[in-house]
Amino acid sequence: MNRVLVLDAAWQPDRIVSFERAVTLLWDGKAVAASDEIVTTMRSPSVSVDVPAVILLGQVAKWAFKRDMPVCTRSGVLARDQHVCQFVIGDVACHRPASTIDHLLPQSRGGAGLSWSNLVGACAPHNSAKADHTLEEMAKSHGWSLKREPFEPRRSIRLLNRVPAHVIPESWLPFLAAQAGR
Ligand SMILES: [Zn+2]
Repeated sequence: MNRVLVLDAAWQPDRIVSFERAVTLLWDGKAVAASDEIVTTMRSPSVSVDVPAVILLGQVAKWAFKRDMPVCTRSGVLARDQHVCQFVIGDVACHRPASTIDHLLPQSRGGAGLSWSNLVGACAPHNSAKADHTLEEMAKSHGWSLKREPFEPRRSIRLLNRVPAHVIPESWLPFLAAQAGR
């Protein structure tokens, strides 16, 4: 994947850039390596530059201080839930891939259509088992619960929506986990 994760000066994920852009930032002294993992070496006739998987900007990006409201999308919900079904049945957390989106309060019962707090990733069997029941009903009748309360994600998770989850490099994960946990 021709991409490098850029951290701002507060070590928060800022954006994802191409190898070429990363080299420019390094070459101009605007960023330094933040990871030992070298993902490629860019060569020109006169110079070669090792490109790290993660680079760190020298100053805090402006948007880091802004709070904007992320728009809820189906792909955003799946990314927030790491593409794994969010239901727990009794004491057993489901580990199947979330191939569907479940409305905790079904739209047929007045639930919001696109809402970070009303949507969770769900496997197909659990989505069809829940059908148009509310989570409260499933909790009473079958002991269902959620792995965590659905939340409005921060910007780093939305940035990741542009990168398929299965190609996110392992060297990015410590930074992304730190961000998601705040
Ligand atoms: Zn499931």
